[in-house]
Amino acid sequence: MSISPLMPVYPRCDVRPVRGDNCHLIDEKGERYLDFASGIAVNLLGHSHQGLIGAIQKQAAELMHVSNLYGSPQGEKIAQRLVSLTFADTVFFTNSGAEAVECAIKTARAYHQHAGDEQKFELITFNNAFHGRTMATISASNQDKMHKGFMPLLAGFRYVDFDDFAGAEAAMGPNTAGFLVEPIQGEGGIRSASETFLQGLRKLADDNDLMLVFDEVQCGVARTGSLYAYEQYGVEPDIMATAKGIGGGFPLGACLATEKAARGMGLGTHGSTYGGNPLAMAAAGAVLDAVANDEFLASVRAKGDKLRSRLEQFIGNYPELFDSIRGRGLMMGIKLKTEPRPFVAHLRDNHGLLTVAAGDTTMRLLPPLVIEDEHIDEFMEKLSAGAASYDPGESA
Ligand SMILES: *Cc1c(COP(=O)(O)O)cnc(C)c1O
Repeated sequence: MSISPLMPVYPRCDVRPVRGDNCHLIDEKGERYLDFASGIAVNLLGHSHQGLIGAIQKQAAELMHVSNLYGSPQGEKIAQRLVSLTFADTVFFTNSGAEAVECAIKTARAYHQHAGDEQKFELITFNNAFHGRTMATISASNQDKMHKGFMPLLAGFRYVDFDDFAGAEAAMGPNTAGFLVEPIQGEGGIRSASETFLQGLRKLADDNDLMLVFDEVQCGVARTGSLYAYEQYGVEPDIMATAKGIGGGFPLGACLATEKAARGMGLGTHGSTYGGNPLAMAAAGAVLDAVANDEFLASVRAKGDKLRSRLEQFIGNYPELFDSIRGRGLMMGIKLKTEPRPFVAHLRDNHGLLTVAAGDTTMRLLPPLVIEDEHIDEFMEKLSAGAASYDPGESA
């Protein structure tokens, strides 16, 4: 037998972390890495946050899991907090981002079908989007590399260029149920939608009784300097998926909706065995305690501004390597003039710096939101040393 016990679906690198220390990871050999990847925008409080660790330890000893057959004081509390903090009136908890998007897709379809409109099932989605790896969420993305071998796709998605309002409007038809969009594309290369685009989709949805669904799995939970990115666009969705940072490292996602949007989601229409169990709710409570306040959000914006201005000053030193800086808050991308993966590997293997490659030749910077000046200094030193020592031929 030659297949590995761990199904070989990930191109894993040689770094094998076994311990976290605030904004650093330590591997089996004792090597330290500055973590500007955060498990892909998950560990927003770093790896040593006492509030998060304490909340999980305490809840684990009290009650980890009960079925959603029973009342949930823990879930009610976190749902109420999310409702108070956002556009939403109601919340469904999941264990992952893809499941949160699945629930969002079902909610958008059910909105129309509950009212007897069976033909409105199609969501208009956008090129280079990433919504997860389930059948529905790969079907929602135009990316062939995620489709290959898994045909047929689920019907009911139509792809249009990201940020192309005229294209979205032209794609509407009798089957259109709504729009599903990341306000800032993550895997697609830290590409921010324009305000006019999201505001335009909002108006199309209002004028045609369609659902505007935001996927804030990556850009949400304080990452961009507001609790959710939509706040900075002056546009509220009808339905929104959140995950990644919301558990701070504990697997948790949620689908948020207005009362109107959730009209099709009545008793028995949806469910999850683990979704929103007491342990997950304890993690979410600790995350919200830390991030859902003006002081913390202002600190994310200030750190983002500081990092961005250091980067803007720096990239001109290597015009053949760096193109431009993208993103908001601490969801940042450096667009490169070369393939991002070899440079990301060089920084990791030779300079102890973890970042993440994305589409569109972009290197993603997704540090813990609790970084301090010393981490920004360390990052700039490592990036600077890495750019100076980089030979684009080395890993080709
Ligand atoms: C990561 C991601 C997902 C999928 O989340 P999983 O927890 O991996 O299922 C969905 N949408 C966006 C925007 C993401 O970044």
